[in-house]
Amino acid sequence: MIPSVRKRKVSPDHGGDVTSIPPHDPGTSLERIGWIRSPQVTALGKLGIESLRDLIMHYPRRHEDRRRFDRFPDCESERSFCICGIVGKTAFRRFGRMRSFEAELEDQHGSPPDARITLRWFNLFHVQKIILTGSRLVVYGRPRLRGRRLFMEHPEFEIIGESDAGRQHETPQEEGDQSIHLDRVVPIHPAGAGISVRVIRKLIHRALTEIDWSLWLDPLPGRKVAWSRALQSIHFPDEPEETEPARRELALRELLELQILVIARQNEMRKPRGLPKITPGTLLERFLLALPFTLTASQQRSIATIRSDMGQEHRMHRLLQGDVGSGKTVVAAAAMLLAIEAGYCAILMVPTQILAAQHFRNFRSWLEPIGIDVKLLTGSLKRGELSLFNNLARGTAIIGTHALLHHAETVKEAGLVVIDEQHKFGVLQRSQIASGSSAPDLLVMTATPIPRTLAQTIYGDLDISILNEQPPGRGSLRTVVRTPAHLTGIIDYIHGELAKGRQAYVVYHLIGESDKLATKAAETEINAWKDRLSPHSCALLHGRLDIFEKRHVMDSFEKGLVQVLVTTSVIEVGVDVPNATFLLVENAERFGLAQLHQLRGRIGRGIHSSTCVLIDGSANSSALERLSILEKSRDGFVIAEEDLRLRGAGDILGTEQSGLPPLRIADLYRDADLIPVATQEAARILRDDPELMQAHHFSLSRLRNTLSRGLVETVG
Ligand code: ADP
Ligand code: MG
Repeated sequence: MIPSVRKRKVSPDHGGDVTSIPPHDPGTSLERIGWIRSPQVTALGKLGIESLRDLIMHYPRRHEDRRRFDRFPDCESERSFCICGIVGKTAFRRFGRMRSFEAELEDQHGSPPDARITLRWFNLFHVQKIILTGSRLVVYGRPRLRGRRLFMEHPEFEIIGESDAGRQHETPQEEGDQSIHLDRVVPIHPAGAGISVRVIRKLIHRALTEIDWSLWLDPLPGRKVAWSRALQSIHFPDEPEETEPARRELALRELLELQILVIARQNEMRKPRGLPKITPGTLLERFLLALPFTLTASQQRSIATIRSDMGQEHRMHRLLQGDVGSGKTVVAAAAMLLAIEAGYCAILMVPTQILAAQHFRNFRSWLEPIGIDVKLLTGSLKRGELSLFNNLARGTAIIGTHALLHHAETVKEAGLVVIDEQHKFGVLQRSQIASGSSAPDLLVMTATPIPRTLAQTIYGDLDISILNEQPPGRGSLRTVVRTPAHLTGIIDYIHGELAKGRQAYVVYHLIGESDKLATKAAETEINAWKDRLSPHSCALLHGRLDIFEKRHVMDSFEKGLVQVLVTTSVIEVGVDVPNATFLLVENAERFGLAQLHQLRGRIGRGIHSSTCVLIDGSANSSALERLSILEKSRDGFVIAEEDLRLRGAGDILGTEQSGLPPLRIADLYRDADLIPVATQEAARILRDDPELMQAHHFSLSRLRNTLSRGLVETVG
């Protein structure tokens, strides 16, 4: 057997025993290493790999145990197989405009001895140039039955040599090369244009032997061995079981870096330069007295906390989390009155024009009776409006969309900015308001619940208040998942609700029809709904209508002149019409759970009981499993947890919302238990060495630049 690569060459803990090549500093750029050809340097650059350090931190997607391949499959399967064989016959076929290339893969020493499977690629012309009769391939893919034959379509593959019969096509192989690619647990790294999995594997293998491990200082003392060994094991483990502990060890380092950024952002935000707003609270009292309901205990608590925040020397930077319908708007209004009473203007910023118009109406009815001016500003401001904003705005409540951010300097003059539906804004937009010397108090509100450990990361720079109860007196809400076959019954049900004077929403994934997706669209279905629900009136509402149409439709719906809105996810945020008791979502499988939960928040707001019907157009069991979570729970936190469990947390970072770099190896859900450890260590490191200049913080040096560039740029 070929000796294990690690034993032969790499011993990272002792600096390596390759005496002929001087070890490299981890920061060495790929050009300077000398053994990476320049087209490869370019291709690696496209993958974001520029230094030796980047290269060994380019982690594999998965591993293949090439000491024992799977048997050739003999039936269709949902699981992927990793098999090795020799290419027999190859062929081209035409299917209309499509061309396919097929290669028969034969098992060499399997049982049964003549097992085979057909590999097939459509319209991929480069494949036929490299896969030749006699090539020896490792293939990874799912077997599919097409007619009576088994296929793997577009499998991952690697040419690992030629059978004896194929020697004439031999590709040059480097000495000892096979020991990296065969007869061991082999890493499969993400590859890219101009660079194959195989080449990357070879380069990483060499990088691991040549890096100067004495410079690879671990910021987590006492774990150095674990780190360098983890790097070795994540790429070239001796056994598959080594990879998971290695991944966790590396995940911890990655989360450490992340939390350093988060804490630095937090420190920046908390700099004491707020304007304390201490008032008797007379306006607030008058407002609360006039409200037709009493506040819930958690609304009262939040308002008290906000009031205390606003009285402080440093500025408020608070997140108010509360499930849909928990009554965040009233809390926002209370906070705005505190700023107004202190002589400032207060701004409420929302993501959609529809929501701005709705808040505008509410705020007028709440605030005008107590003598406060309310203004609505949507779209970009004209010059006249700007001056109005500047000169007359003291003591005014301004409601606007994020178009106001084009005037960030002006917005910063306000005493308080409230951002509603924070998850629809980017953190960049948030920090635009909160940075600089004259920055207002900031209250951001979101209905997207995030488990606490995650909130520490994503909203690590904010203090958090939670509204954890619904106001009393709401009717019940029932959610059911149905298939398109149930439509007739559903229509009857809607007729019943409308006859009782209630209203309904029908939500589509798309505005207009798409040739790519077999999904129904609001614009094309509106007429069908007018027929089905006649004599009741239906109207179309979506984001592409102009602002006047939107307002007109929304007004008519609120006044009850329109009974049914055929719409899209524009209504997802904030729309509040308590008389609406029915929500139908077509192609519900196309929405995220959290989004469906938001949509469902449009009903169940009044005293009547409500019904939400989710139509699953996919006929697939995993979609059904996902949607049925909504049948069972109305608790946004439970739903968010389930969503994370099913989808992973992969897409939470790296989004505009978090403004943080995407994670390469840590998973905020799976590794949630590591976050507190990372946070603690990050705080310690920043306390001891705020500029990250000490030698053992070398590996964090990339962050040093980010930190010194300041807060707003960390976000880019
Ligand atoms: P969200 O948290 O989803 O933004 P809203 O602020 O829109 O919720 O409130 C939902 C509805 O509940 C509104 O009609 C609001 O007037 C009403 N509401 C808010 N607080 C209370 C309360 N304490 N008692 C009764 N109704 C309330
Ligand atoms: Mg709201």
